Amino acid sequence: MNQLNVLPYPAIVEYVGPDSLHVCTPTIQCDNANESLLQKAAYLQQALQQRFGTAATICEPNSSQQAPGTAISLQLVEQLQQLQQFRWREEGYCLACGAQGIQITALTTTGVFYGIQTLLQALQATPEGLRMPYTQVADAPRFIWRGVLLDVGRHFFPLPWVLKLLDLMALYKMNRFHWHLTEDQGWRLEVPSLPRLAEVGSVRGTPPSIIPLPSHNSSSSSATTASQQDGSSQQQQQQEQQQQMQEDSPQQQQQQQQDADEQDATDAGQQQEQREGTPPADAAAAAAAAASICRRAVPTAAAFHGGYYSSADVAAVVAYAAERGIEVVPEIELPGHCCAALAAYPNLSCTGEVTAVSTHWGIHEDVYCAGNDDVFSFLGSIFDQAAVQFPCRYVHIGGDEVPKARWQACAKCQERMRQEGLANEAELQSWFVRKVSGMLAARGRQLIGWDEILEGGLAEGATVMSWRGNVGGIIAAKSGHDVIMTPTSHCYFDYRQAPSACEPGAWYACLPLHVVYQYDPIPSPWPDAAAASPAAAAGGDEAAVHAAGDCDGGSSEAMQLESREGSGEHSSASMSHSHHQDGSGEEEGEEQQGQGPSPAAAAAAGGAASAVDEDAVMSEQDAAAAAGAVAAAGPHFPGDPPGASLTALLPAAASAAAAASNAAPASTAAVGAGSSSSSSRAAAQMLSEDEAAHILGSQANLWCEYVQDEETAEYMLLPRLAALAESVWTPVAVKDWGRFSSRLQRHLPLLQQMGYKYRPLS
Ligand SMILES: [Zn+2]
Repeated sequence: MNQLNVLPYPAIVEYVGPDSLHVCTPTIQCDNANESLLQKAAYLQQALQQRFGTAATICEPNSSQQAPGTAISLQLVEQLQQLQQFRWREEGYCLACGAQGIQITALTTTGVFYGIQTLLQALQATPEGLRMPYTQVADAPRFIWRGVLLDVGRHFFPLPWVLKLLDLMALYKMNRFHWHLTEDQGWRLEVPSLPRLAEVGSVRGTPPSIIPLPSHNSSSSSATTASQQDGSSQQQQQQEQQQQMQEDSPQQQQQQQQDADEQDATDAGQQQEQREGTPPADAAAAAAAAASICRRAVPTAAAFHGGYYSSADVAAVVAYAAERGIEVVPEIELPGHCCAALAAYPNLSCTGEVTAVSTHWGIHEDVYCAGNDDVFSFLGSIFDQAAVQFPCRYVHIGGDEVPKARWQACAKCQERMRQEGLANEAELQSWFVRKVSGMLAARGRQLIGWDEILEGGLAEGATVMSWRGNVGGIIAAKSGHDVIMTPTSHCYFDYRQAPSACEPGAWYACLPLHVVYQYDPIPSPWPDAAAASPAAAAGGDEAAVHAAGDCDGGSSEAMQLESREGSGEHSSASMSHSHHQDGSGEEEGEEQQGQGPSPAAAAAAGGAASAVDEDAVMSEQDAAAAAGAVAAAGPHFPGDPPGASLTALLPAAASAAAAASNAAPASTAAVGAGSSSSSSRAAAQMLSEDEAAHILGSQANLWCEYVQDEETAEYMLLPRLAALAESVWTPVAVKDWGRFSSRLQRHLPLLQQMGYKYRPLS
């Protein structure tokens, strides 16, 4: 018998005999007095109509309105024996399907909602109507944090698509929307008390024309369009930009016009493709759509681009998410990745001279001045608003990739260090994060940061998001802090899904579907998990990793990807790992898909000390070249490389890292739970049961340097999000790559029906 075609697969499914329920003229029964439950009933009613064209009525249990047909009962109860074994049973549910109809019971309305999601996927449309096999399901998530990060800083995504993303998350029972709202290249959150953040910080580059606005403003694509929500501020920007143009020299104006013309040409091409694009009727059409995405110009930050979310937009997102059991976690990046904010308020920088939103990707030296009290007043205003807008437990403060050069040269920052008795700039950063942690705590919020916040000491109560491999998370868990594991090796959904030159996404790394599927947020102490590896069964995907495709005639030698078949979770072929890739705009602008640099050159272009992923599998030549490149460029961080700081906290990992770095000098394997299977490393990775309990879950990170529109974003997310969903929901013992693949194949028509563009299966 086919498994219930449900993603992620439930923890316990019992098939009760060979019979099926024929679902006809359903009535949805629930307690009308419970408004929240009634809302879930209305959701189910609407979904049955949209997906199957089936009309259902809502009524009280045993009500006289009840017509003959199929009863679908939604019920809240105080206890469910079947869920007792699950740690996160509050999000669990039981679903029973038999001759009497369908019952969904749960402890919370979120549990009921997840039962509805399972039901909607399990129902099969047949010529005779909807059918479901007689089954008993008892289900709850393995992890409480099942997240998706959307980077709207690099590219703005309009409100309707953000809501569409939330629908996708709900489909896969994902429950944290990590909204990366601020970046060097754009500030996307309206703060009425700080109006220049939206007016100045939300737009970068030179507009393609002054007035009127570009005609493609009404395009569904967000690329190159400013927010539609506030025409007045847009006009104001145009006036400012017009004034700027008038002040520019004729040569500058000529160059700007040339840039604008080129941009218009690109936009026109994109629009043409969008007009020609129709929803794919089959996999071949989906493949054609993918090819159309990858033929588009590689996004550069230099192009005119803008947009922000008004307070009303934020309220809409938060409400829509809450109805789907999703908590919105805003990220306000500090002390780095803040050039857009500094452009709006230059007095908050060390130099006072940041006057433009960044127009290139990568890491920027300008950061908030740690010696200026105005910075903390500014952040306080933002947190005040966030505390009202986001009813979540957490606020993410970034904390990653903070160069120290400005602080070293700043009298105010140096004075702060003297006053506070701080030995170096790493401690200044730690002081900064602790201060912000206190500010958030005063507003009833808890701090999350990227694993760099470990350096110089971790703020009390902080939750760590481990992205540079697993070691940051292991250190935090061992010291009693909560952790979200989201390593580049398995969770960076901006990476290409195959090494082919015709794949959309970041050109420097590759993360195939099966590698995502095999991810376990709790690090295995013994990396040699060949028996459990789905790689061998992955067939096409594995082949794709080895044999770089060449669908458009471009050379794909750039992606010298090798995958160590059968090496378990570390068979990832990701190559490079700056968090916010990549190098300078000039270098980036020259690189076209299919003509990317070698991984060594990529490391050099990134320029960061952490340019090489600990899970990367490099040829010796590449490793040596990268070593030379990094050495020549000097470490990106003025202080110790972050890896050194991390491993100092975990001696066993440090010794393993030293062994690894002897083999490949360029590798900053020091940072990660990497490829070495040495026993010391394994010991370092070992978490006791209590320590492992600090790992709350994982999330997919969709960074958007190279994801400039909705279609591309969906392509990057799908179907990998289904794989990660199973990694964070389904018990390890129930996961099975072969069965997942089979279910996924049958699931794709649903994605198509819901209007999502996905990458066709290899
Ligand atoms: Zn300063």
